[in-house]
Amino acid sequence: MDHQQEEAGIPHVLTFPLPIQGPINSMLQLAELFCLAGLKVTFLNTIHNQERLLRCTNVQSRFEQYHGFFWFVTIPDGLPEEHPRSIEQFGDIITSVQTVAEPFLREILLSEPVVTCIIPDALSYYAVDIGNEMGVPVIPFDTISPSCLWVYLCLPKLIEAQELPFKGDDLDALVRHIPTMEGLLRRRDLPHFCLTDYKTDPSSLAALKEIERIPQAYGLMLNTFEDLDGHFLSCIRSYSAKTYAIGPVHLHLKTRLAEKQTPSLLSSNSLWEEDQSSIRWLDAQPVGSVIYVSFGSLIVASREEILEFWHGLLNSEVKYLWVLRPNILREGETDYKFMKELAEGCQKNGYIVSWAPQKKILAHPAIGGFLTHSGWNSTIESIVEGKPMICWPHNVDQRVNSRLVNKLWKIGLDMKGTCDRSTIERMIKDLMGTKRDEFKKSTDNLSKLAKLSVGEGGSSTYDLESLIKDIKGFTL
Ligand code: UDP
Repeated sequence: MDHQQEEAGIPHVLTFPLPIQGPINSMLQLAELFCLAGLKVTFLNTIHNQERLLRCTNVQSRFEQYHGFFWFVTIPDGLPEEHPRSIEQFGDIITSVQTVAEPFLREILLSEPVVTCIIPDALSYYAVDIGNEMGVPVIPFDTISPSCLWVYLCLPKLIEAQELPFKGDDLDALVRHIPTMEGLLRRRDLPHFCLTDYKTDPSSLAALKEIERIPQAYGLMLNTFEDLDGHFLSCIRSYSAKTYAIGPVHLHLKTRLAEKQTPSLLSSNSLWEEDQSSIRWLDAQPVGSVIYVSFGSLIVASREEILEFWHGLLNSEVKYLWVLRPNILREGETDYKFMKELAEGCQKNGYIVSWAPQKKILAHPAIGGFLTHSGWNSTIESIVEGKPMICWPHNVDQRVNSRLVNKLWKIGLDMKGTCDRSTIERMIKDLMGTKRDEFKKSTDNLSKLAKLSVGEGGSSTYDLESLIKDIKGFTL
């Protein structure tokens, strides 16, 4: 790390994302917002992800403009080179990174230049313990949705009231012990581990430790805005009074860069190479005619599920742009021949890529809707661009998000728990046809509110300014 130009007294933030695409993406955007505000930032990444980031993006040259204010630092993730690092081994990944990160954090907090604030992902709860022990304020950045965080915060209530573990197998039964969400969430809308075994699932164990630490940290940061999640934010503030809602972070950054007339707008933080030919293909399509299909960076699916999507898409006769990651098939089902044949068969009415410049795609006028796994980044990116969604959620916050998309915000359909070609075909026809105007009204409204939140006097602008002021105060 070249810290030669260190000037005494400038706050120095250590950011530390989870080693997966979504959190790396939002933490890098946050780091850039901090640099623009004159803070110094060290970005801690795993060697594995840093190599991918450098290979697939212009991140190195982009951050050169913050010379003397921004540094990457890397640590091993502790896993063998050949480890697949897929969602199916998420527990292994976070445990392994923790083993390496804990001693590293202690060491870096004792080194020059002095770290004045730690911003870990909220799931890296141990960073709160280390910061408290060493007298460095910690403000976790929770990259899941606020509504799901509120569910996490209520898990002890559900357990105490003996609602969890659920009795019987009625997945449509309403959940009773999540204040403000009664009547909205069914059992099937809760994070996956509530329906399996929350006592042993690694994501559940980490979530329970995370919520214990939230009141012990200086504050909390969330990637949302008041007009979208105000309700959940007030609930969360009863656990962490200093909860800063600074999102949509990518839009916030885009707005600040535009004000400064900096040219690196919408630059990529992808761990896979983005296929720009998708944009050229979209350029040739009529306005609102294409559905964008992507299940994020982690989800794995069976061959049957992928085939159902393929038939559903073809039968809908709507044009589609489909991100089919080469590693989308579940472990043990990897079949490159199948994927190649599928991709060839798909070219008739659509376009297939293995990774896309998603934010640019969602902003493209040819896109009329988004068939998504409801990851929080994808959801908020879609809201910003006013694109209605069909949700096929799997784990963590995705099940809660998809319920809110459908029932609370009324900006899409939820196909949770089903994956058959006729449902897929019908929902695509509804989203892109019969129900289009109804959804468009609500999505346009939320998109407008998102833009206002990061503008002058907007709620997210206010919270970001407060956050930066507080961080600057830590050096005094
Ligand atoms: N993404 C992308 N290109 C793709 C698919 C996804 O750039 O082809 C980005 C997307 O814009 C989002 C992130 O990857 O920022 C995925 O995060 P999300 O929280 O939606 O889902 P996860 O991958 O964590 O399940």
